Amino acid sequence: MEFGIQREMSFDVFVLGGGTAGVFAAISAARMGAKTVLVEKNSRLGGTITNAGVNYPGLFFAWGERIIGGPCWEAIERAVALDGAVIPEISYKPAHHWEEQILLDKLVYTKVLNDMCREAGVTVMTNAMLSAAREERDGLSLLITDKAGLLSIKVKTAVDASGDATLAAMLSYATVRNETQQPATLDNHLAGYSMDAVDMEDLKAKWAACPLSARVPLERILYYLELQKINSHVTSVAADLPDGRAAVEERAVEELFMHIQTLRTVRGLEDLRVDRLADETGVRETVRIVGEYTVTAEEYVRAEKYEDAICNAFYPVDLHVERGIEQVFHADGLVPTVPYRALIPKGANRLLVAGRCISSDTYANSALRVQAPCMAMGQAAGVAAALAAKEAKSVRSLPIQDIRDGLAKIGAILP
Ligand SMILES: Cc1cc2nc3c(=O)[nH]c(=O)nc-3n(C[C@H](O)[C@H](O)[C@H](O)COP(=O)(O)OP(=O)(O)OC[C@H]3O[C@@H](n4cnc5c(N)ncnc54)[C@H](O)[C@@H]3O)c2cc1C
Repeated sequence: MEFGIQREMSFDVFVLGGGTAGVFAAISAARMGAKTVLVEKNSRLGGTITNAGVNYPGLFFAWGERIIGGPCWEAIERAVALDGAVIPEISYKPAHHWEEQILLDKLVYTKVLNDMCREAGVTVMTNAMLSAAREERDGLSLLITDKAGLLSIKVKTAVDASGDATLAAMLSYATVRNETQQPATLDNHLAGYSMDAVDMEDLKAKWAACPLSARVPLERILYYLELQKINSHVTSVAADLPDGRAAVEERAVEELFMHIQTLRTVRGLEDLRVDRLADETGVRETVRIVGEYTVTAEEYVRAEKYEDAICNAFYPVDLHVERGIEQVFHADGLVPTVPYRALIPKGANRLLVAGRCISSDTYANSALRVQAPCMAMGQAAGVAAALAAKEAKSVRSLPIQDIRDGLAKIGAILP
């Protein structure tokens, strides 16, 4: 049986994934004059920030100064103006780096993203998923599945901001996957108890009898109860693959449920409940592209100044491993940068990648994956994709100065 494709559209720039990086790739491309389409599988924009509940982007500041600007910073300022974001006090060296993350109200932030996409003229398709992709002589041919069925889209250039290098993999560009990946976490909020009323001896006994206690010590449970959320960790899943994605969601629910069931047997926690649950489990890591250049941890930590640097990035190396978190902090005053070549899948002419799956080694990636650098990379990819579409050039042959000029035009801060 033949499946006829009834609808066809064409654009200059296609962005896959309306998440942390993707919305700013689309807004930047559109502000550069490109006819831009943004395709997002979820119902709302924002990705991990809104749908997985990680609504505290880091880090826009380094050593007391703002290092990331452009549409993403405008989004923060708009959220602040709508009473939907808190910019903390910024100092040269905070006691903890995460203290300088910006707390976002998910409703306000989603509204701001909607507004900015609409104002820039981005065609936003939510509840739509990329189903197939093919490279052609003068661009890419993409098949999208949305609420109405199949849609064929022809584009000149594309940005893969899926977090999972989905489009890059579909077009057969190389990706790498670590043997052990960082855990995934289902964000939640606990209610229905007061710490003063918890019978600690009973908690100790009940938790010791729970199978989870083998890897989650009692001190961690006390910390979760104080925090009013269970930071459960789902390990060993390839969440970019269909079976892995299904498994991560099922295991995250099972694990949270088991925590809650055990805790509710404790005197003082009988009415404990989860009163807020994220729409999906937050995934820290899947695959990374093999790019024209791969950022290494050594370069990241010593803040290599690349000739083709397109944005700053600031966060300690922050790898979540079985026994905790491995961190490496920068020496005073150093601000790492991201080279444009790390956004280009090796050999690609019409595709750029932005977000957590850019070309970087494990440790460099554990820092580059955080939200502010993802947004800044999205902006750079959007500008470059728009230029490549306009000038009918390969993304690899664009003069870096043109990309930097474009980034300056949209207000980005250049290294
Ligand atoms: C539990 C957890 C805690 C974290 N803590 C912090 C923190 O404290 N500070 C910080 O800055 N960062 C933190 N991070 C890291 C950061 O949130 C992510 O690495 C970053 O948001 C990734 O951005 P992205 O744009 O690459 O991916 P995402 O934001 O996930 O966006 C990808 C988008 O693509 C869409 N998509 C994927 N596939 C398709 C498809 N085939 N078709 C259509 N749409 C598709 C997805 O639905 C999503 O909207 C944390 C991450 C996790 C999971």
